[in-house]
Amino acid sequence: MDPAPLLAWYRRRRRSYPWRQAPPDPYLVLVSEFMLQQTQAARVVPAFGSFVARFPTVKALARASRRDVLQAWSGLGYNRRAVRLRETAVKIVAEHGGGVPSDPVILAALPGIGPYTAAAVASIAFGVPVPAVDTNVRRVVARAVLGVEGKDAPLREVTSAATAWMDGTEPGAWNQAVMDLGREVCRALPRCSSCPLQSECAFRRRGRADGKPARKTNRSIAAPFEGSPRQLRGAIIRILIGHPVVTIGSISRATGRPASLVAEIVGALSHDGLVMAGPAALAGNRRGRVRLAP
Ligand code: SF4
Repeated sequence: MDPAPLLAWYRRRRRSYPWRQAPPDPYLVLVSEFMLQQTQAARVVPAFGSFVARFPTVKALARASRRDVLQAWSGLGYNRRAVRLRETAVKIVAEHGGGVPSDPVILAALPGIGPYTAAAVASIAFGVPVPAVDTNVRRVVARAVLGVEGKDAPLREVTSAATAWMDGTEPGAWNQAVMDLGREVCRALPRCSSCPLQSECAFRRRGRADGKPARKTNRSIAAPFEGSPRQLRGAIIRILIGHPVVTIGSISRATGRPASLVAEIVGALSHDGLVMAGPAALAGNRRGRVRLAP
């Protein structure tokens, strides 16, 4: 498959996000990829700006306290990512002289970095020719090259098709182009009329992308955030950022949620290494004390 139409489409939009610098700054790419792991790009944009203004370098992030990093992360959710990002910065300073590694294997050994993030950072920041295959990219490659839905194509086949399609001279641009396309155009219900691949897409040629609404699956229905355990996790972290120690009872009062549920979520946060809680707190005792992990 010719990468030219995809790269031409991307060239017009490559400035859409503030982490896309020319030449790329590996630290900014690293931060953005952590933020994009579970948050939509539109929500990442303002958080990214304030985060890198506060921690402009790997060394600044490595020196920061966990509390300050969680505070700067506030609003993005999935706070474990912030803790792992800080741990990664500490390791980069201690083991790599403060320079983000370019090798995807070394990157994947750092906290919070899986194969996708390692490939994204290596290709975008350093031009290493590896495809970063997440759900969106898998959908685009499977459809455009193999003519099937992502779930019907084995990952190995998709990765091999992506590697063949990728332009070896611009792997970072290729990865970001496919990410953007999967996020904005080749969605669950594809918008083929706006797609730069429409003339050569195998899925479209097979009449599989005729604009009929795709059948809704449970996976396409977003779980409600309001009242969810995720919302309570975020609320507890925000309370702890502002106070050195709090009790289960005070969190329960502040959030309007039962102490037993607060204790359950505190237990999960403790398991994730985000907070420290004594046995009383974990048992749901209202006087049980909780603090942010150091
Ligand atoms: S033509 Fe349609 S199905 Fe093919 S890649 Fe583009 S949006 Fe997806």
